[in-house]
Amino acid sequence: MRPPPRIIPRFRTLPVLAIPVLLGMALSVQSASAQTDPSPETVVVQAGALFDGTGETLRQEVSIVIREGRIDEVRDGIHAPAGARVVDLSEWTVLPGLMDLHTHITSDPTGELAGDPFRSFPGTAALVGARNAHTTLLAGFTTIRNAGAGEFADIALRDAIQRGVVPGPRIYTAGNGLGTTGSHCDRTGFRPDLFPETGIADGVFNGAEEARAATRYQIKYGADLIKTCATAGVMSAGTEIGPAQATFEELQAIVETAAMLDRRVMAHAHGIEGIRNAVRAGVASIDHGAELDDEILAEMRQRGTYLVPTIMAFEYVFQAAEDGTLAPWSAIKAREITPVARESHRRAVAAGVPIAFGTDAGVFPHGTNADEFRLLVEAGMTPAQALLSATREAANLLGILDEAGTVEEGKWGDLVAVRGNPLEDVELLKEVGFVMKDGVIYKEDGLPTLPRR
Ligand SMILES: [Zn+2]
Repeated sequence: MRPPPRIIPRFRTLPVLAIPVLLGMALSVQSASAQTDPSPETVVVQAGALFDGTGETLRQEVSIVIREGRIDEVRDGIHAPAGARVVDLSEWTVLPGLMDLHTHITSDPTGELAGDPFRSFPGTAALVGARNAHTTLLAGFTTIRNAGAGEFADIALRDAIQRGVVPGPRIYTAGNGLGTTGSHCDRTGFRPDLFPETGIADGVFNGAEEARAATRYQIKYGADLIKTCATAGVMSAGTEIGPAQATFEELQAIVETAAMLDRRVMAHAHGIEGIRNAVRAGVASIDHGAELDDEILAEMRQRGTYLVPTIMAFEYVFQAAEDGTLAPWSAIKAREITPVARESHRRAVAAGVPIAFGTDAGVFPHGTNADEFRLLVEAGMTPAQALLSATREAANLLGILDEAGTVEEGKWGDLVAVRGNPLEDVELLKEVGFVMKDGVIYKEDGLPTLPRR
């Protein structure tokens, strides 16, 4: 399998015609980030303990110096370089910024605003997303991989965060998820005259050629990665959850086209046949992965295909089915799939398949993401492995391990902190009290700050 492509700076994706504009734009983006990203001052974070993400243990008393938004120095002992602003976390454990690799950041699980396709405007999802993004950042998640959104609301939100317009995590996002007609990535369950029929621009394809076109279309408008639906889902109407919804050839066309354009592919997949198609087509991750057998687990381990289990999503829909708050057709699927998924995830952990942290936040309230740590431990991971899934392993799956995922010199200044020892109790991650992203502090002593911008 060819090595997975790296995510590249977005300017390189602009068309040649944009070059005159690019020069001016690059300058304005530069000056925007100079105002917002790094504070010009040097900050030293004095950590009582540090889980640096390079191994499975804690280091005691470490000083982390951050300059111009990046980690400049990681030194044993408590130090304070002359002129540095001191952040005293001597009673805390510091960790790399957390990453959730399966979110729906523009979705509104309460349905207050963005849940109604007939009444919400295209801008609504981006605005709701801005609120969700801040909530997610304050929960300690400094980077997310977003599993797609309609009308490029995710791209708008990503760019607004990048330019300092609104606070939020760094977003790697997919644009429209790609699926065949009537699949989980299509809009289903409505009368045909209520919406225009979907096509390539909406991520809906039939056949390998259209799959290539749909991939290129998302990337043209700024997708950092491609999301595809290899099977149905719990929340999509009118389909069984198990059967494959795209052929091997279609998925292979997506993966090849994405790789040519330096993008990776995440596959939503529940049933074994769709999982097999996606793994063999060369996707970077299987997301959800409800039905995994020993053969496919061995293949995933050998290829380095990640599993992003999203256990929270299964537990949430299962509970909602029990509580009677899911539509009956959806509740049937939730009851059927959750016990199967629990068993599959336990097997995947035992088999040593690479696992990256992802929750499906947006199906349930944003900001509760860290509850996944407890569920990963219940599935058999050690607390250290669960923490690594949201740091080093997540960065590796995104292709940004040389910039993030561990606390090491030269990497982005993304740090979080909790009181106590998270290796003894991963539920401490639900109470992150300090958040720094790109060297800017967004939460301190458990309270949101007002970062300069
Ligand atoms: Zn999802």
